[in-house]
Amino acid sequence: MFGLIGHLTSLVHAQSVAKELGYEEYADQGLDFWCMAPPQIVDDITVTSVTGQKIYGKYVESCFLPEMLATKRFKAATRKIVNAMAHAQKQGIDITALGGFSSIIFENFNLAQIQQVRNVRLELQRFTTGNTHTAYIICRQVEQGAQLYGIDLKQATVAVCGATGDIGSAVCRWLDSRSDVAELLLVARNPERLQDLQAELGRGKVMTIDEALPQADIIVWVASMAKGMEIDPQVLKRPCLVVDGGYPKNMILSIQEPGIHVIDGGIVEHSLDIDWRILQIVNRTSQLFRMTQPARQLFACFAESMLLEFEGLHTNFSWGRNQITVEKMDEIGRVSVKHGFRPVLASPA
Ligand code: NDP
Repeated sequence: MFGLIGHLTSLVHAQSVAKELGYEEYADQGLDFWCMAPPQIVDDITVTSVTGQKIYGKYVESCFLPEMLATKRFKAATRKIVNAMAHAQKQGIDITALGGFSSIIFENFNLAQIQQVRNVRLELQRFTTGNTHTAYIICRQVEQGAQLYGIDLKQATVAVCGATGDIGSAVCRWLDSRSDVAELLLVARNPERLQDLQAELGRGKVMTIDEALPQADIIVWVASMAKGMEIDPQVLKRPCLVVDGGYPKNMILSIQEPGIHVIDGGIVEHSLDIDWRILQIVNRTSQLFRMTQPARQLFACFAESMLLEFEGLHTNFSWGRNQITVEKMDEIGRVSVKHGFRPVLASPA
């Protein structure tokens, strides 16, 4: 069985989802209540591969909200993640994806040192960040999007915002060695990590967001920002391809201007409908994103735990930070195609 540990994008979003799911006692409550709320299994899921194989899974709502980080409720945030992991393990789930901020909190707060959660000894091999599949899908979105919008990658300048992150660094490795892009612009805040990445790649120009945006033919957003930022479309080149892979989205709104093409980054579409309710509700109630096919579209990190379940690979395929290789991206990419997943090329609605 596979599992998905998810969270919502804001308190308002969480309140509307709780209402739709029939958790009335959660629906009118403020952040303090959500800080105390235990994890819940809120959906049972069945996925059918294009090979005909069927797998079963559960969705674990961690009750983490990005506002917990914004208001420095770090203890609550970390408790949400380890409690959700313990809950998933207690249900006998073999492989669970840590969606969105779950894996970022796990790494930033060094939660690997917490091995015991009440009576559960965490078995970390049962969890995956899902970041290898996410990075693979984002790179395919860059390659396929460039083709769609007439951008020649061999002559293109690509800015990666969040370049030193787990997903960002993997995207840089792939764009360097597989897509053969002309120029890589590396954007993040910590200068040492940027220098380390530049040394590893043996290329790339370190820049601020403001410096990079006007130079880029393609922008990949994979920064861990609790809130999206607004960008002025006037500073962007035409054509410009923007792949926004953040969750919550890194850009506040999708830009609807001629020559600027925004793709919903890190999202995959399955070839068959998935039997679930939760993502349809999350989608319907979000003010930040809308998937156009909620019965088939999902976050690539969630799809990674499905792929590992299909393949009987009950192991933490994506783990630790900045360990993702292009070979592992190839490997998860092959099974992604085999079971009928493909990158979404549409804009967020
Ligand atoms: P990491 O924490 O590993 O990396 C985050 C990166 O963003 C770092 O390079 C960090 O560097 C940079 N960053 C953070 N804040 C800013 C800022 N204000 N300006 C510029 N750079 C910034 O995160 P992941 O790689 O694990 O995840 C990246 C994003 O992808 C997140 O939004 C996450 O929720 C999303 N995601 C999407 C998935 C999907 O399935 N679609 C799956 C998993 C994650 P520094 O701190 O030095 O600035």
